[in-house]
Amino acid sequence: MYNVIMGETVTETKTKTETDATFEQQQTIRMKDMVRKREKSIMAEEESSQSPYLKPKILWFNVIFLVVLHGLAVRGLFYLPTTKFHTVIYAYFVATIAGFGLTAGIHRYFAHRSFKAKLPMKILLLACYSVSGQNTVPDWVRDHRVHHKFSDTNADPHNVNRGFFFAHIGWLMQQKHPEVSRRGKTIDMSDITNDPLIRFHTKYFTPLKLLLCFILPIAIPVLAWNENFIESLFVVGFLRYVYTLNIVWSVNSFAHFWGTKPYDKRIRPTQNLILSIFSMGEGWHNYHHTFPWDYRPSEFGGYWINTTTMWLDFFARLGWVYDLKTTSKHLVQQMAVNHGDGSSQGSKNSTVTISESDTSFRKNDKN
Ligand SMILES: [Zn+2]
Ligand SMILES: [Zn+2]
Repeated sequence: MYNVIMGETVTETKTKTETDATFEQQQTIRMKDMVRKREKSIMAEEESSQSPYLKPKILWFNVIFLVVLHGLAVRGLFYLPTTKFHTVIYAYFVATIAGFGLTAGIHRYFAHRSFKAKLPMKILLLACYSVSGQNTVPDWVRDHRVHHKFSDTNADPHNVNRGFFFAHIGWLMQQKHPEVSRRGKTIDMSDITNDPLIRFHTKYFTPLKLLLCFILPIAIPVLAWNENFIESLFVVGFLRYVYTLNIVWSVNSFAHFWGTKPYDKRIRPTQNLILSIFSMGEGWHNYHHTFPWDYRPSEFGGYWINTTTMWLDFFARLGWVYDLKTTSKHLVQQMAVNHGDGSSQGSKNSTVTISESDTSFRKNDKN
């Protein structure tokens, strides 16, 4: 049992057979729930296609802001040869903290609830998420839940059917499709709106974002090792920030356009190895959309292509996170055989080569 790993004295009362049966039942229930949700999603698409397409209003402030921001980031690239080496390493370190806040925090924990977290971990995840400088928690979570529930329809905020540019960044430059708001209101957000910690974070969202995403990260190299302020501003500030934003947006664009579909060929999301390396394990998007509850979210065992999972396993051993949800190998193979595009040979190999420590971890997950 997982809580035994975390050092708690819990007596194992179920036999292994009973435990496996319960786990399989849970997985079957989850799959039925997914089928129901997908049917709803198809319904939404049909409704959306019947309504006339509205010419979107361009949000010119956002357009100018994003263009200027990218221009400043490009200028930051030119500072790289003269900036101190440890400032560049530090900038990557800050991007990694932001990445952890995005992948483990806002995505796997707050949006999907794929594990449970104790108070210090929740605070850590929220702080790391602030370093990423994105939207408020309720805004991000609603957008993401509606993205999963009505994936690749007009109700999806970054609907890939409107093109690569729209899915990547264009959706932030124009008013949302009315279906996004309409369907967004149907999403259950009670776990987010009732959380006092999230309410605190949302109330002080702007000062926290300014402090943790910009002021502190830029000031530290200047104060600690006498880095030139302008170089820190451009490299640690603009360049690092824009790098993080584009990695996140790439999951919505690249990982919905190119790659294989080993688990479900009926959906747009794909498996993308390169993106997984840069996004700390978020590029296994066909797997993620097929099994969205999985905390890893991939069947691959290697931490080098899923560094967020490595950190979550570390915090699980500390006891700061627990009840991590996974998917049984049987269910993964069943989906691959029934609905995959036939490219699952690599994933089958990966399943076989799962390390012993990973296997014991997963056995213990099942409770
Ligand atoms: Zn997701
Ligand atoms: Zn997606």
